[in-house]
Amino acid sequence: MSIYTYITENLILPLGDAAFKSSVMKNLRSWRKVQWLKSDAIDQIEQANLKSLLHHAIHHISHYKNLNIVEDPDPLVTLRQFPILYKKDIKADFNGFIDPTASKENLIKYMSSGSSGVQSEGFVNREEDSASIAIQTLWWEWAGYKMGQPLIQTGVSLSRGLKKKLKDALLRVKYVLAFNHYEKDIIQLLQQLNHSKKYYFAGYASSLFVFSQLAKKNGIDNIKLKSVISFGDKMFPHYRKSIQEVFGAKVYDTYGCCEGIMFSGQCEFGNYHIMSPHVHIEIVDKDGNPVPDDTLGYIVATRLDGYTMPLIRYYMGDMAIKKASKTQCECGRGFPMMEQIIGRDTDIVRTQKGKYLVVHIFTLIFEQYNTIKQFRVIQKVLENIEIEYIPEPNFEAAVLDEITSRILLNTEPGELKINYTCVDFIPATPSGKPQIIQSFL
Ligand SMILES: [Zn+2]
Repeated sequence: MSIYTYITENLILPLGDAAFKSSVMKNLRSWRKVQWLKSDAIDQIEQANLKSLLHHAIHHISHYKNLNIVEDPDPLVTLRQFPILYKKDIKADFNGFIDPTASKENLIKYMSSGSSGVQSEGFVNREEDSASIAIQTLWWEWAGYKMGQPLIQTGVSLSRGLKKKLKDALLRVKYVLAFNHYEKDIIQLLQQLNHSKKYYFAGYASSLFVFSQLAKKNGIDNIKLKSVISFGDKMFPHYRKSIQEVFGAKVYDTYGCCEGIMFSGQCEFGNYHIMSPHVHIEIVDKDGNPVPDDTLGYIVATRLDGYTMPLIRYYMGDMAIKKASKTQCECGRGFPMMEQIIGRDTDIVRTQKGKYLVVHIFTLIFEQYNTIKQFRVIQKVLENIEIEYIPEPNFEAAVLDEITSRILLNTEPGELKINYTCVDFIPATPSGKPQIIQSFL
């Protein structure tokens, strides 16, 4: 441990916690121990946390009181009586989800736009907020990072408040804008990184990808980073490949959602661990029925330490595959594991026969045609999709037939039609992130 890391951990962070009435260090120390518990022990804590949260919700939170749920000695039986909770349900009864006994000055409001464009907001208390920050910090530690080490971070807003600016300065964080940035600023930043294997780099998966592509395009080929941490959107295989090649560092992907649910992060063996005693997850089909392990389905999450505004069986809008429970990771951590997060349901094309065409299918095909600069897939009805594309000057229309037949290899004969539209411009999402699939189903 370097002197700076030691001072950060033992002086700066505890002072910060005292000043902001938070408890990040306490939570972090606890998580550092919990991660090495055996999976049975983690499972027991999870069950106990679930039982206690459901009891709280049934007795104190008006939205859940009205559901007339019968508590069972087995918390999983109790849990299944709760309907799946969608963003629109929270909007319709917002105050009904808030613990009436929660002290008002202790509440922190979060807001997010989400890639589906549906705005969400809610409350956590300081302790719950600290728990989320601690888990994020733990994930970054899995990537080798210790707070206080030089870090570059991309974000969506440069207007960091005083608290965050102070934190950035003390923790040696260099903050850069993730989207809508000028190419020359990024190139300047990348040139600074040349040859210096000093920095960790944390950012949105898509912005890290853009940075790596710009480095390649501008012949900046000597960047060496300690490691790269991604968050915020999907880490596609082609993103990961490009980032690892250009930055000479391993990518550690993490997945949380803005409602404070810290879902899973990648360890040094590349496995995604689910933060079990903090969150209980279920993978379900589109009707809400559980799917077997090792099967693709929708993620439904219950934050187990969120008492201020309990979100029970919350539909996160993403899809994933949970691994069979007996699978152990070589790293020795006892958390359950999952395969990659496939992406949001709005990023997936569905077919009449119920097949899912995930975004990777399209990116893997399109990356082999360098005469197409950019594309976007739009689905409004089950029977067909429209693909918008921006051609390069040497584009020939014949490749579209090739692309069509390659996409259709993933479907049953006749169940999907594909139309193409040549465009000059493909808009980003309101948050500025590039979007490859846009589904209105
Ligand atoms: Zn592991």
